[in-house]
Amino acid sequence: MSDRLIFFDTTLRDGEQVPGCQLNTIEKIEVARQLEQLGVDVIEAGFPASSPGDFNSVVEISKAVTWPVICALTRAVESDIDAAAEALKYAKYKRIHTGIGTSEEHIRYKFNSTREQILERAVAAVRYAAKKKVDEIEFYAEDAGRTDNEYLARVTEAVIKAGATIINIPDTTGYCLPDEYGAKIKYLMEHVDALSSGKAILSTHCHNDLGMATANTMSGILNGARQVEVTINGVGERAGNTSLEEIAMILKCHHATIPVDFNINTTRICSTSRLVSSLMNMPVQPNKAIVGRNAFAHSSGIHQDGVLKNTQTYEIMDPKDVGLDENNIVMTARSGRAALKHRLSILGIEKDGEALDRIYEAFLKLADKKKELNDDDILMLAGADTAATKHVRLDGLQVTTGKGVTPIAAIKLSVAGESFEAASTGNGPLDASIKALKQIIRRDMTLKEMTIQAISKGSDDVCKVHMQVENGGHLYYGFGSDTDIVTASVEAYIDCINKFKKK
Ligand SMILES: [Zn+2]
Repeated sequence: MSDRLIFFDTTLRDGEQVPGCQLNTIEKIEVARQLEQLGVDVIEAGFPASSPGDFNSVVEISKAVTWPVICALTRAVESDIDAAAEALKYAKYKRIHTGIGTSEEHIRYKFNSTREQILERAVAAVRYAAKKKVDEIEFYAEDAGRTDNEYLARVTEAVIKAGATIINIPDTTGYCLPDEYGAKIKYLMEHVDALSSGKAILSTHCHNDLGMATANTMSGILNGARQVEVTINGVGERAGNTSLEEIAMILKCHHATIPVDFNINTTRICSTSRLVSSLMNMPVQPNKAIVGRNAFAHSSGIHQDGVLKNTQTYEIMDPKDVGLDENNIVMTARSGRAALKHRLSILGIEKDGEALDRIYEAFLKLADKKKELNDDDILMLAGADTAATKHVRLDGLQVTTGKGVTPIAAIKLSVAGESFEAASTGNGPLDASIKALKQIIRRDMTLKEMTIQAISKGSDDVCKVHMQVENGGHLYYGFGSDTDIVTASVEAYIDCINKFKKK
């Protein structure tokens, strides 16, 4: 059995299903390039038949990266497989990932079918994909976690015969216990000749509904799976997918007892985590393993004394191994443009020319207000830069508010390059600002939900606002940030408007 473990990253496909965290094509390319630097073997770039946007993303990601295999998802449907093959045409190494549900629940209720018919459809899909001249075919047995092992082995054997070389065993619902999932992998390894001979490999794909995604994936590896399907920060629908960074660091820490080789450059983990978190506007919980803000916090506080005497007292990992810069450089108004460019590149963002100039200008303005800027501030500035070219833009906002006065706001907007101004009172500064904005943008829209978060601490901190606005029966998600809480909220509202303008 090969002891090389393949890292299959699905941040851009399964991970990107989270409402409000969708990425546009440019952002996906940025993530894909970072994943290439991180050393993932396979990038699942999208589900081309699902939408023109997804199709286009697969095309553009294929052009942007060189050595990872580019994978496209399909159902066991010929038109899906046609779309996937077409979207992959620029990829250097192409993989089609096709499959069908194999549990009784899926067979009966989703397909209203029988085991024999599903087996036939699975084989037909793999045979059809084999005609497309891709480099590899992966087959997924959806809901394998609840599929009977004997039937799963039959399906596995049949699709390998038809041309698949990677068989994905997803615990779609996140229900399996680690020993149960491991036993399933073991059963298949023992009962399918093509697996024990190394002609094909098994892949894990686990969900975290009960907090067992990482444990199940490890159990799969220990029982013979040689590919893991993972996402950065564990992002994904519901409770998410298995985290890439957790599996990579478990294998690094336990290499003596689990001697599998893999290609992840772990020193790129933190920068990749930050890039994905900032582009998806999805904060990482502070106590998240490996990449949470507090994951190595003892090196700067609580157990500092013990750690200074001997790092092994409390640390099982060296923070440098995950790319955590211990001298977390604080930047100030005196930091130069080159220093900013360098810091951005450590954080996984490459900016040059005019884009860098714009970010540097914003950086100096913020440094004036906030004195010391940390990595989160810099990521926020880099993210805000893409907002400069939006349809609706906030050019000015003046608010008078306080106890015993009627809040009043004057707003200046640019809409498709044309300037508009309006003013209104309200029951608070945000209400006054939004009422003024609605005098300019006369659309039926309602604020449904908002959250305000501080990035670090201190009353001079930058605040991040996430918002949901309803328009025409649809919910749109927006994001804004500023040292001014009202400005950040209005920016978030405008971010929502810019999204529904597109439709
Ligand atoms: Zn999934």
